[in-house]
Amino acid sequence: MNLDNKKALIIGIASNRSIATEIAKVLSANGAQLLLTYQGEKLKNRVEEIANEINQNIECFPCDLSSDKNIDDLAAFTKKKWGSLDIIIHSAAFAPRELLSGDFVDNINRDGFNIAHEISSYSFTALAKSFKGILNTSSSLITLSYLGSEKVIPNYNVMGLAKASLESNVRYMANSLGSNNIRVNAISAGPVKTLASAGISGFNEILKHVEAKSALKRNITLNEIANVALFLSSDLSSGITGQTIYVDSGYNINGF
Ligand code: NAD
Repeated sequence: MNLDNKKALIIGIASNRSIATEIAKVLSANGAQLLLTYQGEKLKNRVEEIANEINQNIECFPCDLSSDKNIDDLAAFTKKKWGSLDIIIHSAAFAPRELLSGDFVDNINRDGFNIAHEISSYSFTALAKSFKGILNTSSSLITLSYLGSEKVIPNYNVMGLAKASLESNVRYMANSLGSNNIRVNAISAGPVKTLASAGISGFNEILKHVEAKSALKRNITLNEIANVALFLSSDLSSGITGQTIYVDSGYNINGF
């Protein structure tokens, strides 16, 4: 698939196993120019190493999604660097770890609810708002979701609510930006081992369950997620917007 001349901003790299890392590799291999972000100083070196492994010319810029100023600075940097942008990959989520285990009602609190929704859902809209002026027509905005948005998954708890908000956000953003021919979609990925998923209590049980019960009888790979991100980034998906697309070995079709 040809992404020559497309400029992509990729948010959410924390390790070699991050979904965003594989998406960066696949978009770069298909011709896209990349700008990567890191959440804070602690991740700077790791993200720069990953950038260098992909291509020596990739720049990295700090962005903590809890800060409007960080997001605006990132938009200003992108404008100065490229003038315009074609692709945003939003592959970031957060909830306090103590809320991702045990009983949902017993463990929820106002702060945890607000943080989970702010970082995991609002930040996607905040990016669209800040970057709207430099998004080319035919731009594609992509975020990552999970089945916990619509079905109860043990220990996923408040993150399920945040992902439900994110998927609704995708529909409202798609409608808002559609007249500029900007598309907005989510990929609902099956479970894969990353730093974020390690924070969910009992995650290995989820992997085993999907392997046993999904239509394909196996877990998905990072590359399978990245390939769908590539499709959604490209003009081959020009008629698709506002969707949540499952890359989960068909697990979501189960009623029993
Ligand atoms: P990961 O830990 O590698 O990536 C999560 C990223 O979120 C990190 O890069 C982290 O820096 C970033 N982040 C968190 N808070 C942030 C903030 N305030 N500002 C900026 N960045 C912030 O894990 P991952 O599994 O690659 O997660 C990427 C996305 O995929 C998340 O939205 C996650 O919910 C989603 N997802 C993951 C799975 C899975 O099983 N791993 C399944 C479905 C969806």
